[in-house]
Amino acid sequence: MCALQYLRPDLLHLKSYDAVLPLAADKLDANEFPLDWPEGFKQKLSLLWEKGIPSNRYPDANHHGLKQAIAAYAGADPAQISVGNGSDELIRSLLIATCLGGRGSILVPEPTFSMYAILAESLGIPVVRVARDSESFALNLQACGQALADHPIRVVCLVDPNSPTGNGLSAAEWAWIETLPPQILVILDEAYFEFSQHTALPKLADHPNWVILRTFSKAFRLAAHRVGYAIGHPQLIQVLESIRLPYNLPAISQWAVQIALEHAEEFLADLPLLRRQRDILEQALPELPGVRVWPSQANFLYLRVEGRDPQQLQRDWQDLGTCVRATGGGIRLTVGTPEENQRALERLRQLLH
Ligand SMILES: *Cc1c(COP(=O)(O)O)cnc(C)c1O
Repeated sequence: MCALQYLRPDLLHLKSYDAVLPLAADKLDANEFPLDWPEGFKQKLSLLWEKGIPSNRYPDANHHGLKQAIAAYAGADPAQISVGNGSDELIRSLLIATCLGGRGSILVPEPTFSMYAILAESLGIPVVRVARDSESFALNLQACGQALADHPIRVVCLVDPNSPTGNGLSAAEWAWIETLPPQILVILDEAYFEFSQHTALPKLADHPNWVILRTFSKAFRLAAHRVGYAIGHPQLIQVLESIRLPYNLPAISQWAVQIALEHAEEFLADLPLLRRQRDILEQALPELPGVRVWPSQANFLYLRVEGRDPQQLQRDWQDLGTCVRATGGGIRLTVGTPEENQRALERLRQLLH
């Protein structure tokens, strides 16, 4: 029992999203891009900050220039775009716009990105969890169908490719998604789009009940700036705009994204290198005793080690200098620089011998 009687009792058991800030370790736990900005662009932003951004003024509340730039990059119309303080903010706005006030539940196939359940619970929205296939991590379509029959599901949350397991949606899963009725919102979280190169965007026009989420926190190297965006039906976008906080994006973050998009080729130039590094890790990890690794379409790998508790393994690995994330019954390892990856392998080898 809590002494603060004014608090909603359903919030007392919630845990906050735990993210570690290690002092001196290889940070392979949060799926960030391992390198800071390409040469020269931080100076450009600094200069803009110094000479072009009045700190005493509110930032552009309508994200006008930002939406134009994002729309051009994504291949959409600015009216289809809403920009959030990270895509996390957009997840919350989507839940507010659909389920709040006892209007429905969300369907979350687990393991997946934990913020869906955390944000829903913070809003008092029931979460219906369905286990993915334990081998392939594909959706259990029969169980999903049963959940739809048993619960007032209003939102289906799908991450493509999924975190932490790295698998993209299959043809069979897409066929099922196509059958979802118009009164259900389908969130298609494409946080790793730049790595997977797969998007539902071409099909969006036929499905006013689908919404795509993307972020600048991963491939674009802008995690510090907290910017994500939704692409969806203009009417849904208008609602998202009307319920968000008016000045949700600091001016410097808006400009950071503008610079990154103006120079997208340079910001994304190292993606092939990262994919090669992922392949190297994917080959090397199973050579260690008891290690099983799953194929990934993103910038991380999901692995399990026979007979090892993931939480303990995370602690041991971190003690040796590599931060990873224990989640979904396994370990999620972000692909880092070649040196970080080699150290991660070497440390795991040390732990397992
Ligand atoms: C990282 C991540 C996000 C959150 O991105 P932000 O824009 O930094 O809030 C959303 N969904 C998935 C699946 C992610 O991995």
